[in-house]
Amino acid sequence: MTLLRHTDAEVRERSALTINPAKTCQPIGAMYAALGLHRCLPHSHGSQGCCSYHRSQLTRHYKEPVFAATSSFTEGSSVFGGQANLLQAINTIFTVYDPDIIAVHTTCLSETIGDDVKQIVSKAIADGKVPDGKTVFHASTPSYQGSHVVGFASMVKAMVDTFAVPSETRGRSVNLIPGWVEPADMRELKRLAEVLGVPITLFPDTSGVLDAPMHGPATMFPSGGTTRDQLRGTGAALGSLGLGPSASAPATVALEQLCKVPGQVLELPLGLRATDRFIQAMQHLTGCRIPDAITEERGRLVDLMCDMQQYFYNRSVALWGDPDQLVSLTEFCLDLGLKPRYVITGTPGKTWEKRMQAAIAGRHEVRYQQGACADMFLLHQWIKQKPVDLLIGGTHGKYIARDEDIPLVRHGFPIIDRIGHQYFPTVGYRGAIRLAEQILNALMDRQDRLSPEESFELVM
Ligand code: SF4
Repeated sequence: MTLLRHTDAEVRERSALTINPAKTCQPIGAMYAALGLHRCLPHSHGSQGCCSYHRSQLTRHYKEPVFAATSSFTEGSSVFGGQANLLQAINTIFTVYDPDIIAVHTTCLSETIGDDVKQIVSKAIADGKVPDGKTVFHASTPSYQGSHVVGFASMVKAMVDTFAVPSETRGRSVNLIPGWVEPADMRELKRLAEVLGVPITLFPDTSGVLDAPMHGPATMFPSGGTTRDQLRGTGAALGSLGLGPSASAPATVALEQLCKVPGQVLELPLGLRATDRFIQAMQHLTGCRIPDAITEERGRLVDLMCDMQQYFYNRSVALWGDPDQLVSLTEFCLDLGLKPRYVITGTPGKTWEKRMQAAIAGRHEVRYQQGACADMFLLHQWIKQKPVDLLIGGTHGKYIARDEDIPLVRHGFPIIDRIGHQYFPTVGYRGAIRLAEQILNALMDRQDRLSPEESFELVM
């Protein structure tokens, strides 16, 4: 705890130093995306340490075993390149573990060496190391740029590049690219589409993989995940909806360019308005009717927001995490009556500032920053200059929460000090209800804790 007691309020100019980053490695995102394919084994082309860290971070967040292979670079491969290691790995993986797909991603080391993974995979196929009916594909994920969100987006785009088959005809199905959200969110998106009566292909889909039930013998490949046949069919879809521009735009655009599938990129459907836009986009694309069940869900959220408004009014909040989550969260906080004061993301990107402006829509002055120097240290400095009533973000904010005695609502990635979050969606109207409840509980618990006896109330 003494660590953060050294944070002072005075912000000094820095351009080449990140302190407690608000992001993590590209390959973590690539690994998470690959786990959303059915019978897919992610493979880390680099040294063992990277792979161990990435796997353990996902396991800590999802509380599930995360299998991934590694090229296990040694000093030799670091000097001469990792081709021999990857060829050996592909052979061993198919022989021992028998996945349908190996999804290779790179690390800083293999990217710095300049390994040509595309050529190595072609050689593996030519050498007969890829059995008939199996697939190996890859995404480039150098971690000295971008973030886990960029790695996720690159792997999802690689799925399109590898599997999507162009078609002259358009089917009825909609490609839904969910962005980096929890398995429960993916489940909720599928439920919403089902209630709307719209057939979808969701990819990637980590539900049934990273929230798999325990009912008998352990299995290396749980039943969930998007299948290769489903991915091939994305080229003949009616259209694509990419949710979250940072995570889903590259795949949506690739489907448009490769297969002429009309695409639209929306903000994550988190909160009232963003979910409205998602439902309307589904209706526009397919001509579906909005059933009463959806109207009622929305109505319940609006009712709850009215009930809660008095407690949220003018309470200030600091947010950190992934760019797609933050845009929709900022908009939802403002709709609830909260005042987002600070927003930071370590993920770079050209459009984020504009998207934040659109979410804020001039309703309140928000200080926001992105990139390598938009880190937890800077956020803490801002909070020391002018405190906030509430924190919303991943586990790394708990030090600030404790140091400044500010309630923390855990949201986003990673959450490594709590269990169960992956089972509860925050997308859609139902997800927004849960999120609003979490936020209000955090504020009221603090009020109860700090109330002097004469104003400690039973009814609040
Ligand atoms: S930053 Fe690069 S070297 Fe470090 S763990 Fe991530 S991928 Fe590996």
